Amino acid sequence: MQQVFGYSAFRGEQQDIIQTVSAGDDAMVLMPTGGGKSLCYQVPAIARHRAGLGVTLVISPLIALMHDQVGALEELGVHAAFLNSSLTGEEASRVEREMMSGRLVMLYAAPERVTNPRFMGMLTALDERGLLSLVAIDEAHCVSQWGHDFREDYLQLAQLHERFPNVPRVALTATADDHTRADMRERLALTGAREFISSFDRPNIRYAIVEKDEAKKQLIRFLRDEHEGDAGIVYCQSRKKVEETAAWLSSEGISALPYHAGLDADVRRRHQDRFLREDGLVMCATIAFGMGIDKPDVRFVAHLDLPKNIEGYYQETGRAGRDGEAADAWMAYGLADVVNQRRMIDESPAGDEFKKMQRGKLDALLTLAEAHDCRRVRLLAYFGEKSSACGNCDNCLNPPATWDATEAARMALSTVYRFRQHSGLSFGAGHLIDVLRGKVTDKTTQHGHGSLSTFGIGAKWSEQQWRGVIRQLLSLGHLQSEGEYNTLVLTDSARAVLKGEVPVLLREHRETPKGSGRTRRS
Ligand code: ADP
Ligand code: ZN
Repeated sequence: MQQVFGYSAFRGEQQDIIQTVSAGDDAMVLMPTGGGKSLCYQVPAIARHRAGLGVTLVISPLIALMHDQVGALEELGVHAAFLNSSLTGEEASRVEREMMSGRLVMLYAAPERVTNPRFMGMLTALDERGLLSLVAIDEAHCVSQWGHDFREDYLQLAQLHERFPNVPRVALTATADDHTRADMRERLALTGAREFISSFDRPNIRYAIVEKDEAKKQLIRFLRDEHEGDAGIVYCQSRKKVEETAAWLSSEGISALPYHAGLDADVRRRHQDRFLREDGLVMCATIAFGMGIDKPDVRFVAHLDLPKNIEGYYQETGRAGRDGEAADAWMAYGLADVVNQRRMIDESPAGDEFKKMQRGKLDALLTLAEAHDCRRVRLLAYFGEKSSACGNCDNCLNPPATWDATEAARMALSTVYRFRQHSGLSFGAGHLIDVLRGKVTDKTTQHGHGSLSTFGIGAKWSEQQWRGVIRQLLSLGHLQSEGEYNTLVLTDSARAVLKGEVPVLLREHRETPKGSGRTRRS
């Protein structure tokens, strides 16, 4: 650690992990992004190579990351190489020779190599000569179908254990709820592996989730007030929105670039390089951007759309503040997000059990978004960690006022019920709000909704408040949206709310949630 990398101390559980892996025992390492996972296999790889045990195979799904790591290792005098599709035949042969000679300390390869018979043959020959020292499986959560990074090729990695039962393995990830963890153990055949779970807390990241009002304006206010000239990432759901957001930020004088899987590979590479090298660039991106991006001074990660689940949210926000300095995780979230994410699950070709799991995961994220109490406590609780109020999230810094929306919730649900009774039809949120607020529109006239007993009974609440009520009812699963027009229908659980048995507490709508923090404006 000291001799090669120049670090005088271990971080967190590194020492324990490194000892375990160097000694030849299997390990599962769960550590947040930036926690120092790489050294957990690099140091053992070097130690074992020096002990004459040969080459460590590192499985990584990310070509860019392989490049960076191999470059850094060679610079430190550690003989490392990668095998991937970017090499010419000649280059690949050279790497293979280095590997077969046992001179190589670390070989990085993409997971799909493992299914390649020729490569397997080489590993077998290496193992027979006692020169296959260790297998490190990076981003090991990719083996779980429940996560958002599932990669088919990872399923093949259990083969490494079948073929080389005596070669120790270490699997590493920054994402792991109980389910993913269990999947990793099972699918990678890591039954006996020692598990190292570091705290997932990133104390320097300040979490804030604001109610979407006019998301673009909210974003620009956030950027100008708190992150003038800072580098950061703005995540959007669609490619189109990525392009629009990047163009719009640029027109507002903020240096921004788009990144998504629909762009040419060399455009993507160029944008990524610029983001890594230049100061103060804002990358507008889909989730195609970020895995393995090691930029220490990303000062904020903003979400203009809701991620799929808490793992996604945690991983994406985790790209902020890897240098340990203060950073922001900011998200704008609204009614349409809930409807969209639900619909994406409903319309996906996946099986019922998978959909159910995804809905459950989405619900957990919605609960986090609707929370009135400490975000971090809830986030960590999701990963099985107990903690107390953090003092560095929006809710801790500025406890939200709440209002009792039980009566409003009952009004909304009974109106949805009356729509059905009246005409057998269901309607979307906009129309429901018009009816509740007693607004006469073409649609209310057309359907005779002015005569409903609930027409106008909710006039005392603003449209914004109503959107909050409906969003919460959707998040809590008392309402469900259906079909092409996202019309609202009651669920079984709505009955208890209708009867007044379930109280509904909502955050008071605030224009600008204020951080305590680093306001740069003079
Ligand atoms: P991860 O893969 O968990 O996201 P990395 O392995 O890339 O994290 O490490 C993040 C940063 O922390 C790197 O710049 C790395 O050099 C640094 N780092 C890791 N361990 C130590 C340590 N013990 N002392 C100092 N710096 C460390
Ligand atoms: Zn908090």
